[in-house]
Amino acid sequence: MQDIRWNAFWLLFALTLICLVSWVAVDLTTALVVFSVASSLYLASHLYWLHQLSRWLKKPEIKTIPNGFGVWEDVFAELYHEQRRHSRSKTQLSSALGRFRHAASALPDGVVVLNSDNKIEWCNPPAESQLGLNLNQDEAQPIQYLVRDVDFIAYLQSQDYVDPIKIRSWSNTELSPEHKTEIILEIQLVPFGTKQKLLICRDVTSLEKIEAMRRDFIANVSHELRTPLTVVGGFLETLTDMKGAVLPSTRPYFAMMQEQTGRMRGIIEDLLTLSQIESNAQSPENNQIDMGKLLGMVQNDARALSQTLSITNETGQQQQQNITLSFDENLNIIGAIDELQSAFSNLVSNAVRYTPRHGNIFINWYLEVKSGQQVAVFSVKDSGIGIEQHHIDRLTERFYRVDRSRSRATGGTGLGLSIVKHILTRHQAKLEIKSIMNEGSTFSVIFSKERIVQKQVQLFE
Ligand code: ADP
Repeated sequence: MQDIRWNAFWLLFALTLICLVSWVAVDLTTALVVFSVASSLYLASHLYWLHQLSRWLKKPEIKTIPNGFGVWEDVFAELYHEQRRHSRSKTQLSSALGRFRHAASALPDGVVVLNSDNKIEWCNPPAESQLGLNLNQDEAQPIQYLVRDVDFIAYLQSQDYVDPIKIRSWSNTELSPEHKTEIILEIQLVPFGTKQKLLICRDVTSLEKIEAMRRDFIANVSHELRTPLTVVGGFLETLTDMKGAVLPSTRPYFAMMQEQTGRMRGIIEDLLTLSQIESNAQSPENNQIDMGKLLGMVQNDARALSQTLSITNETGQQQQQNITLSFDENLNIIGAIDELQSAFSNLVSNAVRYTPRHGNIFINWYLEVKSGQQVAVFSVKDSGIGIEQHHIDRLTERFYRVDRSRSRATGGTGLGLSIVKHILTRHQAKLEIKSIMNEGSTFSVIFSKERIVQKQVQLFE
């Protein structure tokens, strides 16, 4: 810049000097003629270089930068350096991008980069083979047109990418149908940048096979144990009922054996229910559930259980828990009634079993707005023994009990909340647990707005 200014200054200085010399040596007219000719030439040269610059800018390549003259030489030199810097950083960027793509291509998991409209920007070879994509043909195509799985499309549109989903796909998509093998893919979307997404997919077929084997094993063992246990339980009952068959001194042992076979039968039934729900890959039935009717049944079951567990106090009266139901009559949901009845009953029966006989249990069903979204909530609030905070995250694990003896005493199997969790996952619902020791617990089931059905409220008769 300094050079350009000095260049312009010296040029003007030389022109003025020549004009002055012509004026002194010849006359004013000659000086003016010299001035106008020199100015026109000066202007013409600028116009010429401006034209060169605009021509170059249309196709700016480092090799074709004009040399320039005078001030323009400096301008073009600056441009040349700028262009060199730019091309160097471009080379560095493209080599970094190349390295990233190289590394991403070597990943065993499939990676797809999606733009804000869910169109494919790039994908690695494992993603091509797992999802049946072809980068050359499918670049800039919306992913939902190419991965046509219903669950995947729902997941993509849900905007909730905390948990991955599993979909069934076909390996070797280029092979004929009889040579293809079914694979199970775990897909996770990770938002990044400005509404872009990274799709990560993993072939979990072998893991799923091991998991299925484990489930089948538990289901088969439970099934095999059910018949002998029923026989043993039946004979124990018959012997106890038969007059003179059991000596009075051994009667308590028979009662204990009966109690234990009953417990084992309860565990086996729960294990069978759990493996049945777990192995059922199909979505649950999607019927509209009459919640008023369902909640009425749940409340009646809870009252019956409370009565069974109640103890007769000194005055000879049975102490009963107060079980209250309050619900929004216009609010129904879509789901499988059998499964949801089992989940709700499990939560309510826990409230009955872990609340003192004089305690209160509130069953509620209502609409709520959570994080800007309308949700339906089923909640069971009790005034029971409560749960310490560090147990809460583990309650839905199989056989996890806070207090084993209490669970046993009230006929618990340790599988109830596992069953609840699985049923809720199948309905895309969440379980929230809040508890204060010796004050009580609240178990809430949260259904997303997609499952809500609101009955039309009739304003006029
Ligand atoms: P269980 O058959 O032992 O009740 P669950 O899976 O239903 O098994 O529950 C797991 C554990 O969670 C229980 O053993 C109990 O300690 C605790 N729990 C569940 N519900 C409640 C509740 N309403 N109040 C206190 N503790 C509870």
